[in-house]
Amino acid sequence: MSRQPQSRGQCRYCGKEFAKGGMIKHLAACTERQTIIAKTTRRPAEKLIHLQARDAYGGRYWINLEMNGSATLKDLDHYLRAIWLECCGHMSQFSIGGWGGEEIPMKTRIDRVFTPEVELTHIYDFGTESVTLIKFAAVREGQPTTRHPIALMARNAPPDFKCMECDQPATQLCIECQVEDDQPGFLCDEHAEDHPHTGYGEPMLIVNSPRIGLCGYCGPAEPPY
Ligand SMILES: [Zn+2]
Ligand SMILES: [Zn+2]
Ligand SMILES: [Zn+2]
Ligand SMILES: [Zn+2]
Repeated sequence: MSRQPQSRGQCRYCGKEFAKGGMIKHLAACTERQTIIAKTTRRPAEKLIHLQARDAYGGRYWINLEMNGSATLKDLDHYLRAIWLECCGHMSQFSIGGWGGEEIPMKTRIDRVFTPEVELTHIYDFGTESVTLIKFAAVREGQPTTRHPIALMARNAPPDFKCMECDQPATQLCIECQVEDDQPGFLCDEHAEDHPHTGYGEPMLIVNSPRIGLCGYCGPAEPPY
């Protein structure tokens, strides 16, 4: 995973593409999003917090969420597990202050913990860990645009991994190559077909998640709602 192209993603309101940093600015200005916000009238107003979460190892995986201030870290944990992490029900925790920082209880309200400048660390699985950094991006006072505690506003496009044999777009990943041979392990359908390794199972389908290749994680990497 040495190649590190600029990670881009799509705004879920207008469909336009931006890099990770530009997306935060775009969402504040997106006219499609403003239209949806203006149309939302039935829910009680509260503090709504725009968060950007990214994987701690390179940040090529990222999502922008709008979260109800009254929701809790438990809701965020549930969301991160569903979209990125869940393999076999490992423990997880949020902390503040980076590595070895202070643990923040899951029942903590979002509007109590996320204030400007705050970044939390989320660790899933203390064996083969996946680390996610979640930073405050913006806040607005208003009505949530969905009935759920979280609205997905943007997500990185799937990284375009190349087959290590032929440089065509890869669709599958061989774990044995990664773990035993220090190879990228990315394969196109054709080269996955006759790939010789089975020690860690057959090559698996690539999904849009930073946990791919860890602890047998195989997706589906879909948002829970
Ligand atoms: Zn937009
Ligand atoms: Zn697991
Ligand atoms: Zn190939
Ligand atoms: Zn292999």
